[in-house]
Amino acid sequence: MDFKIAPELQTLTQRVRTFIDQEVIPLEAHAYDDPVEGLPLPLLQEVRDKAKQAGLWCPTMPPELGGLGLSLQEIVPVFEAAGRSLLGPLALNCSAPDEGNMHLLNMFANADQREKYLKPLANGDIFSAFAMTEPAPGAGSDPSMLKTTAVLEGDHWVINGHKWWTTGAGLASFLIIMARTDPDSAARGGATLFLAPIDSPGIEIIRRISHMGEPDLGGHCEIKFHNVRLGPEAVLGEVGRGFALVQARLGPARLTHCMRWTGIAQRALEIATAYATQREAFGSSLSGHQAIQWMLADSATELHAGRLMIQQAAWLLEQGDQARQEASMTKVFVAETVHRVIDRAIQICGGLGISDDLPLSKWYQAARAFRIYDGASEVHRMVVARGVIKAYGHASTTH
Ligand SMILES: Cc1cc2nc3c(=O)[nH]c(=O)nc-3n(C[C@H](O)[C@H](O)[C@H](O)COP(=O)(O)OP(=O)(O)OC[C@H]3O[C@@H](n4cnc5c(N)ncnc54)[C@H](O)[C@@H]3O)c2cc1C
Repeated sequence: MDFKIAPELQTLTQRVRTFIDQEVIPLEAHAYDDPVEGLPLPLLQEVRDKAKQAGLWCPTMPPELGGLGLSLQEIVPVFEAAGRSLLGPLALNCSAPDEGNMHLLNMFANADQREKYLKPLANGDIFSAFAMTEPAPGAGSDPSMLKTTAVLEGDHWVINGHKWWTTGAGLASFLIIMARTDPDSAARGGATLFLAPIDSPGIEIIRRISHMGEPDLGGHCEIKFHNVRLGPEAVLGEVGRGFALVQARLGPARLTHCMRWTGIAQRALEIATAYATQREAFGSSLSGHQAIQWMLADSATELHAGRLMIQQAAWLLEQGDQARQEASMTKVFVAETVHRVIDRAIQICGGLGISDDLPLSKWYQAARAFRIYDGASEVHRMVVARGVIKAYGHASTTH
């Protein structure tokens, strides 16, 4: 095992960190200036232009699409550096859901789809959204409950259904819609992904869901599809392979979430450490009290473990392993760690931690959703437990 980070990657990570500190963190003061989008779009465009000029644009996409062409393992430290601000991944074009959507399109889009959707997305000209989750009784934690249908009429598909939590749909130029194309198939079969321009007749954005935390670009939308007619060119990959494609998207996407989240958690630890070393109470700095030291130590230890889990799962995925167990363990551990680290940082900073003078209170709210989206902690624990039980069944029963 070699845990060394190549010198070029260390340099790149440092450049990203400097860019985030100098160009992105100052923008956090404007994160609420636009009542709908949060950060005003002209400010986003400006910082994106700077990221391009600095050679930090779109770390995951290949150079022919204007990106840095980094592998899943290589982006681990780069995404953490970008994630030091919730605005950082947006500035570098590696935020959810566009980053996962680009990954999916890069793997499965045909030449026309690459030209129409992937190229402008990688260039930052447009935004995208991924519409899988449905309100009850449709697909949520259990995607096999998918209720949205796509029925073939002649050579056109007619889509009807109801989605929600489609992140970014309020600004997206196109949606990736998951719909059932074979009603007679087994629960986890017969689904297909469709690429639908947002102005396709029959797509109705009902609302942006009001939620805790910062406004997110494009919102989290509730959408209805009323007889949306799409031609055969809208099919992404093959008809009936929707679940396989979703898995190919979500495996790495869970890890890239963890990489970005580690960035704000590390910054939270730094903020707490700075306060603890400067603030005096009961005859010493706070950092002189063991209860505070233990909080700092626990946060540092858990972050270290989380990083190693991310790196190992990324390595497994790159070996062609699906890494279902490892990705689930990592998603649970990192989502919960980030929450604990921010919580401890707030505790250490006292009243200042609760105030909006620091970003901790905003991150605390944002981090609550980390334990729910892309698989709730309970669902990932279920996947891990199934593996444990299966492995026990295969092993010798003597103890
Ligand atoms: C901020 C945010 C952004 C999102 N973005 C997108 C997006 O862009 N596209 C998209 O398609 N979806 C998106 N989602 C949806 C997200 O993936 C779902 O919310 C998530 O998969 C859980 O589904 P659900 O909300 O229907 O919860 P439900 O399925 O109703 O489950 C509710 C709760 O039940 C528990 N639970 C579920 N299964 C089990 C089990 N087997 N054992 C024990 N407990 C269980 C869990 O605690 C879970 O939180 C987003 C959600 C949020 C909050």
